[in-house]
Amino acid sequence: MAPYGPRRRPGPHRSGQTPIRTNSGSDMPQDDTHLELCPAARDYLGRRRYGPLIDGVETGAGSTDLIETFNPSTGDSLGHIVAGTAEDIDAAVRAARTAFEGPWSEWSPYQRQAMLMRLYDHIDQNYEELAQIESTDMGMPITRTRGTKDFILRTIQFFASQALNIKGETLQNGLAGNVASMTVKAPVGVIGGIIPWNGPLGSQWWVLGAVLATGCTVVLKPAEDACLSILRTVEMLHEAGLPNGVVNVVTGRGSVAGDALARHPGVDRIAFTGSTVTGRKIIEASAVNIKKLQLELGGKSPDIIFADADLDKAVPGAALAVFNNSGQICYAGTRVLVERSIAKEFAERVAAFVKTLRIGYGMDENANLGPVISEAQIARVMSYIEIGGKEGAKLVCGGSRLGGDFANGYFVEPTVFSEVSNDMTIAREEIFGPVMSIIPFDSAEEAIRIGNSTEYGLGGAVWTSNISAAMKVVNGIHTGVMWVNFYGQVDPLVGFGGTKMSGYGAKGTSAHLDTYLYTKSVYINII
Ligand code: NAP
Ligand code: MG
Repeated sequence: MAPYGPRRRPGPHRSGQTPIRTNSGSDMPQDDTHLELCPAARDYLGRRRYGPLIDGVETGAGSTDLIETFNPSTGDSLGHIVAGTAEDIDAAVRAARTAFEGPWSEWSPYQRQAMLMRLYDHIDQNYEELAQIESTDMGMPITRTRGTKDFILRTIQFFASQALNIKGETLQNGLAGNVASMTVKAPVGVIGGIIPWNGPLGSQWWVLGAVLATGCTVVLKPAEDACLSILRTVEMLHEAGLPNGVVNVVTGRGSVAGDALARHPGVDRIAFTGSTVTGRKIIEASAVNIKKLQLELGGKSPDIIFADADLDKAVPGAALAVFNNSGQICYAGTRVLVERSIAKEFAERVAAFVKTLRIGYGMDENANLGPVISEAQIARVMSYIEIGGKEGAKLVCGGSRLGGDFANGYFVEPTVFSEVSNDMTIAREEIFGPVMSIIPFDSAEEAIRIGNSTEYGLGGAVWTSNISAAMKVVNGIHTGVMWVNFYGQVDPLVGFGGTKMSGYGAKGTSAHLDTYLYTKSVYINII
């Protein structure tokens, strides 16, 4: 028998079984498929106190400023993280600077690539531990955290290939004499990586991969609500032979540790993923030393369904584009624009599909959907649901917080509103929860106009069997990424990004690497 697997003995629930809820009825105990933690994840989660990792060493042993961290499925405490201070950020930035100027700067591209390949193997072999830590700490269903493995390994592979792909140019010039001219690319230096809680295990690799491929160093500031998978990943990097100081992590509050990182004059560039409100603060803080910035911010992405779409694919596709990760995805397709002739049928079919989704704890192998991250987040989501009703949207399904065995966790039903108009609050503001707004439209032009009527410009999709209509929408919508007849898949070879108030800076492709490098023009007088 595997060292971990479906638990057949009573779990920590009153019923003695893991609650799994289908949306067709009340909470009902079903087959118990709640996993036991594997020994490695159990050991890690058994530590219950987690400090910053600076220069390869866990610090903060004496700190009394601690932040309690929770399992969002159960509301149980997972222990405490140390609330990092501006002094911790300073120590981490100094370690990163020393590493940047030390032997790490002498590593050849082949050595950096070999390092990334070793990390690939190490993460590959230890992935189940990381997936279980993530599912416990942030509530993402274990099947989804396991599913993220391919993406993470591909991303590491992508950056390993890019380590050998850094190149300048030989350029002509009109200068007198015998002058050769070229550009060379050099690593920008110390990166500050500020990561949100909605999938840190995967999203950290956009920063880590680029840092390691280019020869930069980094201080990560993960979100206080979910940072354990990042801390464990960085330990693994050291286990795999990464030199101390190249990757550092400071746990703690965004308003303290995050702000100190964004202001620190020793940081050359910030890679930030988070809300537009915080993004604006980062821009202001970065002015102190004119930091380079990459900002991946919020979204309110349009998902446009024409009447000729294959609804057998569009219904589940559009539903999961909102409900996956309980709506906590930056490019979630939350504004579902449906051609009026099928709007009613579409809403009914989405409601029927939603009933087949099973809600469960993060560590439940049968769960499609887990909790949202925190009590604060569920309060936010519930307040938007209330506003939706008050402003006249029609509630098709969902709308409630789950009780019973889910009462201590942060579970909200997948919620569908129809007859939404684009000026309603639920269609304008990012909810970051499982709430779909169905907005009818009458023509492609109107769909494009509504699709663009938002301050955001992150994602979007179009579902149709007419390639001309698809391309008209793709060309007409102002977002950093568009999908046709599916939603949400991303490959670092192709990348994605945002425009408008969703931020700037590429993720993926060689353009991503360029933002971790600066260009030096070199003139050589050949005498
Ligand atoms: P958030 O409040 O902006 O937090 C994001 C990160 O910034 C966290 O690590 C947070 O730390 C830190 N932070 C908070 N205040 C800060 C400050 N003043 N200075 C520096 N750092 C600070 O965002 P969230 O609400 O947790 O995350 C959800 C948002 O992220 C959504 O808007 C979503 O669309 C966006 N997001 C975007 C993408 C993308 O690629 N475009 C991907 C994922 C998420 P603490 O949490 O510890 O305070
Ligand atoms: Mg947590």
